[in-house]
Amino acid sequence: MTSPDAIVIGSGPNGLAAAVTLARAGVSVRVYERENTIGGGSRTAEVTLPGFRHDICSAVHPMAYASGFFQRFGLADRLDFVTPELAYGHPLDGGRAGLAWRSLERTADGLGVDGLAWQHLFGPLAEHADAIGQFTSTSLFRVPKHPLTLSRFGLRALEQGSPLWNVRWRSDTAPALLTGVLAHAIRPLPGLAPTAAGLVLASYAHAYGWPIPVGGSQGIVDVMAADVVAHGGEIVTDHNVTSLRELPPSRAVLFDTSARGLDRIAGNRLPAGYRRKLSRFAYGNAVAKVDFALSGPVPWTNPELAQTGTLHLGGTRADIARAERDVARGRHPENPYVLVSQPSSFDPTRAPEGKHTLWAYTHVPAGSDVDRTDAITRQIERFAPGFRDLILASASKTAVDYAAYNPNYVGGDISAGDVDLLQLLARPVASLQPWRTPLAGVYLCSSSTPPGPGVHGLPGWNAALLALHDVFGMTTPPSLAPVPNL
Ligand SMILES: Cc1cc2nc3c(=O)[nH]c(=O)nc-3n(C[C@H](O)[C@H](O)[C@H](O)COP(=O)(O)OP(=O)(O)OC[C@H]3O[C@@H](n4cnc5c(N)ncnc54)[C@H](O)[C@@H]3O)c2cc1C
Repeated sequence: MTSPDAIVIGSGPNGLAAAVTLARAGVSVRVYERENTIGGGSRTAEVTLPGFRHDICSAVHPMAYASGFFQRFGLADRLDFVTPELAYGHPLDGGRAGLAWRSLERTADGLGVDGLAWQHLFGPLAEHADAIGQFTSTSLFRVPKHPLTLSRFGLRALEQGSPLWNVRWRSDTAPALLTGVLAHAIRPLPGLAPTAAGLVLASYAHAYGWPIPVGGSQGIVDVMAADVVAHGGEIVTDHNVTSLRELPPSRAVLFDTSARGLDRIAGNRLPAGYRRKLSRFAYGNAVAKVDFALSGPVPWTNPELAQTGTLHLGGTRADIARAERDVARGRHPENPYVLVSQPSSFDPTRAPEGKHTLWAYTHVPAGSDVDRTDAITRQIERFAPGFRDLILASASKTAVDYAAYNPNYVGGDISAGDVDLLQLLARPVASLQPWRTPLAGVYLCSSSTPPGPGVHGLPGWNAALLALHDVFGMTTPPSLAPVPNL
């Protein structure tokens, strides 16, 4: 093998985004992946029964259309997605449910006395979702190009992320519906950082919908890998990089590892002060997941929930806040918050005819080795009596299993670093260019850098642009658009 110009360690969505960007700029690039398949948090596999294809990590992709990287890459032209008109739903006891339709008006109509409040909250954000996409695509230290949208966004985040979060609402449905999204960040609620992250996702639901890739999340990384290879790049699987010394000579190395992985692999070649900062970068609480193979669709008490790709279970706003507080205190909640995706309701490739797959996870304390299959099953059964009888098989992953599956998920933290306010700003260090390390030619490109977790490729894109500028003297971003017949 000849030596490449650039090496990427890790083939998650961000590692591949970096590799695509470098390869498209004409830089020879080699990706090393420790597992025998590519994809990191975007893999799909049969983990229960033959013919049932489960997303191991990410399942729903609110950023597939919104991410500036994916827009440039033309992801929507390269891969089929289904976008349910009902983006997410939130069952409450007694068969009631909050429903977030892609249409803001339809959502507001269904929320009764709180319809107008929902419309006022999200109207200006959904209308300017492209501006939100721009100021959340990079380091928050950058001067925003859309100050008016930023201030509208900030005021709403301050309200819904503070003890004032109930002043707007008169019923329990709308605040529960919103809390289901704010809880994604695995942080105590109310809180500014989880609210900022949640408002972005909820705005995208009305602007773009929450798409699901046909065939599973693996498709996203597969089309990225194909583009890397088509432009001369190489991908080497089954190669766990443990030290910079073992790599062939290259001009740039990009780490799709956690900040801790960077510290471990680059070791004492990094300055002591920078290593100290990396060691202070904190990891958050974790997830435990169950994949189910089902003999039929989930019998939700509220039949409209059959039409949604994503559900948030756990009850009212107060119930979910209590569950998240328990996790923050190191406890496994009795009545947990559960995130559910039902891809086979929209994509028949996921299960044999008439059968279904169900993806569900809950939050647990960091380092938990508790199997949450029973707790998750009970919570689904609460809103869909008879669910238990449909289970043909299930496969569970604890937080400890996730940490072993992918070292980026330290203690089972799927964000590769806690998403609190400080670490939204300083990810993993306070800098205008946090992707650049003090070691010449070495960059961090994973979700341990801005804008943080999710399948959007933006850390990889930002880090690769810096490498192109610093190392290869290129100041114009390459075109990533699909090339016909390649
Ligand atoms: C259970 C779960 C559910 C999720 N749900 C969603 C969702 O629905 N939607 C969404 O947008 N996001 C979701 N996410 C988050 C999303 O998957 C991650 O934010 C995203 O994958 C991060 O991408 P990355 O490239 O930074 O890192 P990763 O995807 O973690 O990839 C890192 C890669 O680097 C490899 N690697 C690490 N160290 C080394 C080494 N030393 N040598 C070689 N290879 C190495 C790893 O094996 C891995 O393949 C979920 C994550 C999990 C775990």
